[in-house]
Amino acid sequence: MLPPKPLLSFWFAGSAGGRGVGYALLLLWALAAPARAEVEVLTSIKPLALIAEAVVGDQGRVSHLLPPNASPHDYPLKVSDMQRLEQADLVLWVGEELETFLRRPLGNLPEDRRMTLLDLPALHWPDREEAHEGHGHETDHLGGHHHDHGGRDPHLWLNPENGRTIATALAERLAVLAPAQAEGFRARAAALAEVLEALDQRLESRLHPLSERPFAVYHEGYSHFVSHYHLNQVASVTVSPERRPGARHLYELRQQLQGAVCLFTEPYYDMSSARSLADELDLKLGELDLLGATESTDTYPELLEALGEAVATCLQ
Ligand SMILES: [Zn+2]
Repeated sequence: MLPPKPLLSFWFAGSAGGRGVGYALLLLWALAAPARAEVEVLTSIKPLALIAEAVVGDQGRVSHLLPPNASPHDYPLKVSDMQRLEQADLVLWVGEELETFLRRPLGNLPEDRRMTLLDLPALHWPDREEAHEGHGHETDHLGGHHHDHGGRDPHLWLNPENGRTIATALAERLAVLAPAQAEGFRARAAALAEVLEALDQRLESRLHPLSERPFAVYHEGYSHFVSHYHLNQVASVTVSPERRPGARHLYELRQQLQGAVCLFTEPYYDMSSARSLADELDLKLGELDLLGATESTDTYPELLEALGEAVATCLQ
């Protein structure tokens, strides 16, 4: 946390009466305070924490609220989570279209202590025709869903261009919070952008030859990745991960998946229905860890790289 400025000025003002006491307080403070003020960033989910870590570096601390494999779609907020939200200098979240459970608690935070990524003007959005082709009807028979399927896909970190945008915007927000360290934040955001640029080109050339191969994902959350790399997603098993697909949707899925190569599951939920579907239709099974929950995923580029590798391996 950054030092509480009003309290400090109160200390110094109070010490004006007696020099000895004043110096003693100053000395105490100097001994107790860390060498540098540390900015404390709290993010909703691990992917955002990975981006934030790249920007903050050793100039502060970054943590995420949700356990890595918990679905952001329906997380029960605990009292200790509320305390972490109160203590952070800056809270980073995608927005209510993804972390619906954070809408109220974050509404109570002052605006300069939260950063809503869906509001960033420079974000790239998937070409809807391309990414959502053929299943704009799913919401109807699966019931209402906070993904707001008719609207935007909130899983925006799956496009490396958005990762760069988020890092740049975060560096500017941190520069306001801790001006003395602004240069470091900006330099690290720029370094991440360079790594992402190279990674993007690598993924592009790896995935381009596979762009016609039809596949299905488990939940409707990959349009940023699918659209960016021009992939051929033909169906999703469910719109929202916590909903099991109904009989009618499974019937339609079987039609949509004729000629498909691969079905991608996710490591967070019970995948038995998806697995038996793949078995029945003779599809290869792949697994996409869009939350970077795997312990070996330590950085944001690693998350994207693993995703690209999983897609390529299953499609070829
Ligand atoms: Zn989702």
